[in-house]
Amino acid sequence: MSVIGSISIKDNVTATLRIIKKEQTSFREDVKKTREEMEKTWKEKYQAKLDATPATKALNSLKYKMEMHCDGKPSVDTDKCVGCGACSRICAHGAPIITDRKCYIDPDKCLGCGRCIGACHFDAIKPTNWNAEDLLNRRMAEYAYAILNGRPHFHINIITDVSPNCDCHGENDMPIVPNLGMVASFDPVAVDQASADIVNEAPVIAGSELADNILKDSIEAAKHDHFHNTHPNTNWHVCLEHAEKIGLGTCEYELVKI
Ligand code: SF4
Ligand code: SF4
Repeated sequence: MSVIGSISIKDNVTATLRIIKKEQTSFREDVKKTREEMEKTWKEKYQAKLDATPATKALNSLKYKMEMHCDGKPSVDTDKCVGCGACSRICAHGAPIITDRKCYIDPDKCLGCGRCIGACHFDAIKPTNWNAEDLLNRRMAEYAYAILNGRPHFHINIITDVSPNCDCHGENDMPIVPNLGMVASFDPVAVDQASADIVNEAPVIAGSELADNILKDSIEAAKHDHFHNTHPNTNWHVCLEHAEKIGLGTCEYELVKI
């Protein structure tokens, strides 16, 4: 009996030790898994906090703006450049570098905004890609789509002080048309199409850049496209046509005046 009893005790101990070992292994795996999940959550929260800082937001905004304008980076004809420095004074990004009275535009710093092109009185700065405006117009529609997709949105355009150049141009001229009011819609494409049509129907302000261009080319002026007449090398329709194509909205609208 005593021999049988000792075998029985040994069997029980081995089985119990096996169970304990199994539980320990399972416990260790649970601890490891919990730690990994906690680390992942902490990293996500830390990254989200980092992304929400004004500095990161500003950096991201600059990054995306650079991407959007990246095809419009100009270059300098050094034969025409006299090293006056007007381009470097107007550039907000320190891209034009003048050495030995000749300018070079650093493509890593340049955003492609084109302000230096208008600032150069010697016609030395030219865009490197003449298709850049159309590409920029299409990208604007795509970026807007990325922001609005799946989110509630409503759009208001305030049509006042319609300047000849983009509002980032510090050297902007007087408005090209009188102040025209506000347009609102849930459809971002319809609201822009309606706003553009309203501007194009408006009288031109005498002495503005648009008025000067109309005097130069009466055939183009007859088409009554104030935006194209202000910048004959650009086609604003591209942005709205692309926006409609990718499903951002529609160019069709009914104007209700209130
Ligand atoms: S503004 Fe024109 S001429 Fe003057 S430095 Fe720049 S590229 Fe040269
Ligand atoms: S295109 Fe704009 S960012 Fe580039 S050099 Fe000219 S002013 Fe600066």
